[in-house]
Amino acid sequence: LFDHPAHPYTRALLSSIPSMDPDHRTEVPPLAGDPPNPINPPSGCRFHTRCAHAQALCSERVPTLSPIEQGQVASCWMHVADSGHTEAPVLLKEAA
Ligand code: SF4
Repeated sequence: LFDHPAHPYTRALLSSIPSMDPDHRTEVPPLAGDPPNPINPPSGCRFHTRCAHAQALCSERVPTLSPIEQGQVASCWMHVADSGHTEAPVLLKEAA
């Protein structure tokens, strides 16, 4: 999780950790906007209102929890092959 954070929210959380190294100070907030209302959460991916990678698909459908690598899983359309997200892997289909 710390070496290869896959979910955009995880990456944002980790990048918000203050650094004691003056050359690696975070000067730009990793997230903008307010957290979603838990009583009336947004449709689709709950993070789509603040995600820098959000696309139309993200607000329409809840992402499935998918395996990534090295036992990691993430609930993000960018990691679901052929999901329709432009950053998702595309599986090559064999000719019939
Ligand atoms: S599903 Fe979409 S909005 Fe949600 S974390 Fe992934 S890219 Fe961002």
